[in-house]
Amino acid sequence: NTEVAHHYIDQLFETVQKRNPGEGEFHQAVKEVFLSLIPVLSQNPKYIEHAVLDRLVEPDRIISFRVPWTDDNGKVRVNRGFRVQFNNAIGPYKGGLRFHPSVNASIIKFLGFEQIFKNSLTGQSIGGGKGGADFDPKGKSDLEIMRFCQSFMTELSKHIGPDTDVPAGDIGVGAREIGYMFGQYKKLVGAYEAGVLTGKGLGYGGSLGRKEATGYGCVYFVDEMLKSAGRSFNGSTVVVSGSGNVSIYAMEKAIQLGAKVVACSDSSGYIYHEAGINLDTIKRLKEVENRRCKDYVLEHPDAIYVEGCSGIWTIACDIALPCATQNEIDKASAELLVRNGVKAVGEGANMPSTLEAIDVFLDNKVLFAPAKAANAGGVSVSALEMAQNSARLSWTMDEVDAKLQLIMHNIYSESVKASEVYGVPGNLVIGANIAGFVKVADAMIAQGV
Ligand code: GLU
Repeated sequence: NTEVAHHYIDQLFETVQKRNPGEGEFHQAVKEVFLSLIPVLSQNPKYIEHAVLDRLVEPDRIISFRVPWTDDNGKVRVNRGFRVQFNNAIGPYKGGLRFHPSVNASIIKFLGFEQIFKNSLTGQSIGGGKGGADFDPKGKSDLEIMRFCQSFMTELSKHIGPDTDVPAGDIGVGAREIGYMFGQYKKLVGAYEAGVLTGKGLGYGGSLGRKEATGYGCVYFVDEMLKSAGRSFNGSTVVVSGSGNVSIYAMEKAIQLGAKVVACSDSSGYIYHEAGINLDTIKRLKEVENRRCKDYVLEHPDAIYVEGCSGIWTIACDIALPCATQNEIDKASAELLVRNGVKAVGEGANMPSTLEAIDVFLDNKVLFAPAKAANAGGVSVSALEMAQNSARLSWTMDEVDAKLQLIMHNIYSESVKASEVYGVPGNLVIGANIAGFVKVADAMIAQGV
């Protein structure tokens, strides 16, 4: 019953906090999932009896390693690399690599934990993992990036493989970095194992549509949610934070569906363009010229640039798509968005809203698409890339896009269904967590302790 479930959750959460001191992001991700699972634990005592959650919160293993490399001045530099292999109940560990100075065990563990449920939701056979390094790619030369990636892979290669653990990109890791890492892996292993990494270049095993998948998928998901409420992207004003891979393709799809995107950002500040962001300019600045958002206003004098990225949430919009990073929307930003009339929020980034911010959205009946569901399109197409690599063939963009749309549709309907079955209709935070959890939990029980 509910009381037993609450007691179990409270005690286990205390244990998680004690065992992982100082890991605030990890605690936050665990807490959100725990609270969501009360209804399912109350109705199915088997999950408590089999200690499924006790097992789920402890990664299978955490690998932490030194990454030494030489900068362009010949100076030896050292970073810390991580790979967390969280859970492989339903498939090989799968999840991105993040290169960012903020990376530490807490960040990688929260991301790896979320990945378990996200990957389960996709309906594909992929377990949960994540990795990265506290390396800052900003301002590094191409050769420095290459040497770093090679050193990182020299250690990582011992722990991954097409049937064991398949990394991909995340913040700071795109096709260029995946290419350098794939080259190094191939040399070390002495075999062409295309399926060991996803997000590869199109000429050597990459999938069409992978680059676009997270952003497109997020918009497909939000579109389903809007339709259920008699709304649509067409004619809506949209704010999309970030200007990386997720953000750019969320903007592109939103614009294709008739929305006006008025703002986007990077870690230094945001641009507001009332007439609508010019996507060609942003794409060129970010994807080709490696420049900053502030340069956008040089070409579009009617747009404004404001220092500081969190200010983007002061802009009034119908739909907010946080596609930058964790905890970018706090309680105050959420309240402001609500006061300014936001109708829907779709999380393109991982855990971009704090727990308090989510409560503000749900309490105010804002349509809320949680990250695990809304940004699952990226890893879904990664799984499609693995499938193409195994079959030694390539699908067309139309084929991949049709599969992505179907996957996002299924994630949406599974999440809605779970929210209804467990008595919280429309609460997709709870629905997505439960739908993701049940499949993994049942597999764990079936496979024994
Ligand atoms: N980093 C992405 C995510 O957060 C993609 C992972 C992947 O493709 O394996 O889901």
